[in-house]
Amino acid sequence: MTEFVPVEGITPLTKKAFNGDSYYVLNPYKGCQYGCPHCTAQIPLCTAYPMKKWGGIVEVRNDIVGYVRKNSSRWAGRNIYLSSLGDPYQPAENKYKLTRALLEALASCDCSVRVITHSPLVIRDIDILSQMKDVSVGISLTTTNEFHAKLIEKNLPTSDERIETLYALSDSGIRTFLNIDPFLPEITPLFRLIDLFTDDVSFFRVAGPNWKATRVKRKLFDMLKAYEPELFVRYQTIYLKDNRYFQEIQNKIKGLNRSRVIETDISL
Ligand code: SF4
Repeated sequence: MTEFVPVEGITPLTKKAFNGDSYYVLNPYKGCQYGCPHCTAQIPLCTAYPMKKWGGIVEVRNDIVGYVRKNSSRWAGRNIYLSSLGDPYQPAENKYKLTRALLEALASCDCSVRVITHSPLVIRDIDILSQMKDVSVGISLTTTNEFHAKLIEKNLPTSDERIETLYALSDSGIRTFLNIDPFLPEITPLFRLIDLFTDDVSFFRVAGPNWKATRVKRKLFDMLKAYEPELFVRYQTIYLKDNRYFQEIQNKIKGLNRSRVIETDISL
């Protein structure tokens, strides 16, 4: 059971710089019911709520839409990103509809919006998304292997459901991208996914988990140790002794069309 905590009065925007671009992040929810073990968002949330399990508590930011509307002129020409601290279409969105209201508010702000989600619920908002001037929707995928999906994504919609969602968005004329995040060695068929979806999406985003976060690394390693010991040994080699693995992947990515593949840091 997830506890929902209404929170008001927190500025819901963070300005970040990435590859020279700055963007603002809107987080209608802080925390995520999906509770993925590799998620970096668990770090701020579990720090704020040390007695709670990741996935067990979600802050609901009811005043975020009012905040965006009140400051609407500020977003013109800006890059806006939804979200970094929880999936904007996690099941709570069925009830609170904050992401939908945010998109409605942003539709008139002349800004560029990028949405990333694992959830088919985004299809509900095709009516708004298709009216927006500059929007792209990324569907996240890490693996199409059922065993690995059960291991690391047991609360998420299935890979097939996500792929169907991607097609539904594309068929509606919405700019889509495949968000390969997290890229996990020997689990994510990175280049096969890029081949497979090359005609279906505008671009690919590739990112690794935050391996520097002890909590994230420990959860993934413990899981592999318990359920896939051979891969656990391989991970130890990759992470503790052999950074060439990542260099080879990064070199291969560099050989791809750079306008179509955006790589954030995948390595240690
Ligand atoms: S769905 Fe996204 S935000 Fe939610 S727990 Fe998983 S990785 Fe984190």
